[in-house]
Amino acid sequence: MNHPTTGLHHITAIASDGPKNLHFYQDILGMRLVKKTVNFDVPGSYHLYYGNKAGDPGTALTFFLWPDLSPARPGAGVTSLTRLAIPQGSLSHWESRLTGHRIDHTRERRFDEDILRFSDPDGLALALVERPLGEGEDIIGFDGAELRLRAAAPTQDLLFAMGYKPYKTDADRERLIAGNPAAWGQYIDLWADPEAPGARQGLGAVHHIAFRAADDTHQAAFHTLAESRRLMPSPVMDRSYFRSIYFREPGGILFEVATDEPGFTVDEPLESLGRALKLPPPLEGRRAEIEALLPPL
Ligand code: ZN
Repeated sequence: MNHPTTGLHHITAIASDGPKNLHFYQDILGMRLVKKTVNFDVPGSYHLYYGNKAGDPGTALTFFLWPDLSPARPGAGVTSLTRLAIPQGSLSHWESRLTGHRIDHTRERRFDEDILRFSDPDGLALALVERPLGEGEDIIGFDGAELRLRAAAPTQDLLFAMGYKPYKTDADRERLIAGNPAAWGQYIDLWADPEAPGARQGLGAVHHIAFRAADDTHQAAFHTLAESRRLMPSPVMDRSYFRSIYFREPGGILFEVATDEPGFTVDEPLESLGRALKLPPPLEGRRAEIEALLPPL
């Protein structure tokens, strides 16, 4: 592509309980709740967005709250690890912080660097990794995502077409980079695991990962690419804070391409992001009915 993606836009996972999810991401990980809304396709359930203070693209980890689902089964065909970037020198701070909150964690060596692995209350696999970005200890945004696949080549080929480049190899994992090592959300790791059972979606799983497109024209190029590969991309959907297309990559993982514009400040000011329940215009008329369906948060 002439204009490659600039990296990850958001990652959406599935969680069970609003207050537990809020406590974990807001109070323990120190992320900001930047949007409290509903799943536009299933308006009786919450969609929560956590990000950095400005809610910049590439920082939003979002959750569908679907308490009735069973726990996910790990395996091939899902995002197996969500990595968040923290400032250089802050890993040991995070180790003590997680210990203080009695959250199990392990240090692992991957791609010649230390990562701190742990899980959220629903079992979502997370890791922190130091990057020369930001200040203090706050989470900066995504570092990347690891995709577990029986065969990595077809997915890798698609990501190359979307603008990713080879970066590093670590045993059965390949790291690709989106092209701007000085920004967050640049890496995709492909874990080739031919014997893995098929994964099942559920609590603690990533539902989809979204890549950044600057605007509608840029997004249209991804739509054309997905069509040319017979991946049956969806039409453009208005998600209020961005416009999205969706398609499944060859390994079965749901990809989205989302525009950077208009962003989270389109319907509330930066200072009060995340406080009020926001509904898209087509659902605003059903606010009372929707609010009655939602558990307190
Ligand atoms: Zn999404």
